[in-house]
Amino acid sequence: MKIAIIGVGSVGSAVATAVKNTGLAHEIVLFDRDGVRARAAAEDLGHASAFSYDVKITAVNTYRAIRGCEIVIIAAGANQKPGETRTDLLQKNVAVISDIVPRVMANVDSKKVKIIVVTNPLDVMVMLAQKLSKLPAGRVIGTGTMLDSARLKIILSRQLGVSTRSINSYVLGEHGDSSVVNWESVSIGGIALDDFCKQAKIALPATTRKTIEHRVRNAAYEIIQGRGATWDGIGAAVADLLHAIVNDEKRILSVSTVDGNGKDAVAMSLPRIVGENGVITTLHTKLSKEESVALRKSAKIIRKNFDLI
Ligand code: NAD
Repeated sequence: MKIAIIGVGSVGSAVATAVKNTGLAHEIVLFDRDGVRARAAAEDLGHASAFSYDVKITAVNTYRAIRGCEIVIIAAGANQKPGETRTDLLQKNVAVISDIVPRVMANVDSKKVKIIVVTNPLDVMVMLAQKLSKLPAGRVIGTGTMLDSARLKIILSRQLGVSTRSINSYVLGEHGDSSVVNWESVSIGGIALDDFCKQAKIALPATTRKTIEHRVRNAAYEIIQGRGATWDGIGAAVADLLHAIVNDEKRILSVSTVDGNGKDAVAMSLPRIVGENGVITTLHTKLSKEESVALRKSAKIIRKNFDLI
């Protein structure tokens, strides 16, 4: 499969490495408005491929070169500086997505292509990319809260002393400050969280849960403070999403796609079944009253930001 990555900064480079390491692509094309940067990334990554899979990696300076790509990953645009929120990037990245998507669509097969959006503020960028591309909603997929859900799993794994692979837990809503931890649906080895805690004699009171929520929401801020940007986690999330699509895994992932039409349309993360056609089905999990209110509020925030553009 031929895959394009648009934007090869910190995130795009990590995504390219992770995509290369899946072995799912026979060709990866890198495009960045900074051609020197793209060429350097392709060169470096090309050397790395000599130690893993045979994959052709090229930097391209025209969108014509993405012809034949069935998956286009957009990782271009401004990132958060220390103290900035994802929403602060809105206007800058509206310009970036508006520049990229029409050029992508002019060069791909609209019947087949799937666009993976990574650029923040993620959910609004998914809405914009879907609108500009006119693709079916299920084929414009934002990584959404995949990363937030992974962060939650890691914290729970340490707290509960079980492998992340035995934990089923999702963060829903905005990939941003209004994200919602869906405690009501958390299960450990198929056992509801409260029941698991009783059996394992572990206390997880409301105060601890609030602290966990805070840590999940603030993880990116802390990483940005410490290393200037985040890239490894999102690289792995994109690779995981790619596996689900290319291998038609029909896995349930908390990704963001547009639901609804017209003024009611909004993109946010919900558990969705993902396969070769992108998002196939959206699922509705059990929510507490508080979670349900928070999720509606999150949707409103995303829609309000979209209406600002
Ligand atoms: P960066 O500044 O390191 O790189 C951005 C790259 O985009 C640059 O190389 C720049 O030249 C390129 N670019 C800008 N406008 C372009 C255009 N119109 N066409 C082509 N290329 C263009 O930033 P980064 O750290 O790589 O972050 C990229 C984006 O990813 C940001 O919006 C950031 O917030 C987001 N991000 C998302 C997640 C997530 O979970 N979804 C996680 C981390 C970062």
